[in-house]
Amino acid sequence: MSGRSLPDEPHRRYDPLLEEWVLVSAGRTNRPWLGSREQTPKAGLPTYDPACYLCPGNTRASGQTNPDYPGTFVFTNDFAALRPQSPTQRAADGLLVTEGERGTSRVLCFSPRHDLVLASMPLTEVRGVIDVWASQTAELGGAYRWVQVFENRGQEMGASNPHPHGQIWAGSALPSLAAREEDSQRKHVTTHGSRLLLDYVAQETGGPRVVEEDDHWLLVVPFWAVWPYETLLIARQPAARLPDLDASRRDSLAAMLARLLGRYDHLFDRPFPFSMGWHQAPFQSDAERHWQLHAHFYPPLLGPNVRKFMVGYELLAESQRDITAEDAAERLRSASPVPSADARSS
Ligand SMILES: [Zn+2]
Ligand SMILES: [Zn+2]
Repeated sequence: MSGRSLPDEPHRRYDPLLEEWVLVSAGRTNRPWLGSREQTPKAGLPTYDPACYLCPGNTRASGQTNPDYPGTFVFTNDFAALRPQSPTQRAADGLLVTEGERGTSRVLCFSPRHDLVLASMPLTEVRGVIDVWASQTAELGGAYRWVQVFENRGQEMGASNPHPHGQIWAGSALPSLAAREEDSQRKHVTTHGSRLLLDYVAQETGGPRVVEEDDHWLLVVPFWAVWPYETLLIARQPAARLPDLDASRRDSLAAMLARLLGRYDHLFDRPFPFSMGWHQAPFQSDAERHWQLHAHFYPPLLGPNVRKFMVGYELLAESQRDITAEDAAERLRSASPVPSADARSS
């Protein structure tokens, strides 16, 4: 479906991954804005902050001291949301149901440098982060069903520390959103004999929602995007998980990430906040037959200093967006992909 054949009037779009709808009301961004505006974060962080619990050599709240790490550094979160020894029994009392959950949560420092972000790191170091994402996935997948690699960047997304870092949570259960994507991708292969997201890649390639593409990856504002500048990064060839990627696909991914984050930072000329994360096939299942590796990027900003809130209709009825996916993709294509020299975490 090209941009021109889409209606200008309010309409709903279907998300085949989550099997839900989003209301698209283009043109509402012209309305006067009287709400709060986000503060543009200050640039100019030090390369080392003695008060930062993620910087090399510093002591964390747990009393543990970080090693003088030269590249990436992984440790178990001192305030882990999941624990490996939790009991896993299920209990029900009428409508009140509980299920024990076993898991772990780790923190991954991308760089020893306090002032860098993924977008401003050299590509070889971004590639190093990808390798750690992959090796952590393989290791945790040996014990847990779901491995969630993610990053929250910026105060708007609740990142409590500007030091470049992400998280990896792994658990014994399939989380709710993962279960829905698992179900939709499984059904698609059964019905069509091909992977849902590879069919989507074929349909989107060369179209109005593409932001970046190369031989290995397609980056689009998905047709069913909810957040204004949401993007979806999909491996073009079959791959279920990050460890499946060979060296050339990982190198290509490093360049793709740098270009995307460069575009985000240039879109409003400010460090762009987002939550991003990988969706990889669940372990302990046959999901690698139908699951296609992809990453979601969910930035909260609608304008330079205006954020989108999921409130009212979104909480009570269904998601709604104010600019079309095609319009968002065009604005992202117009923004420079070159990482800004002063890209700084907020
Ligand atoms: Zn730091
Ligand atoms: Zn997904």
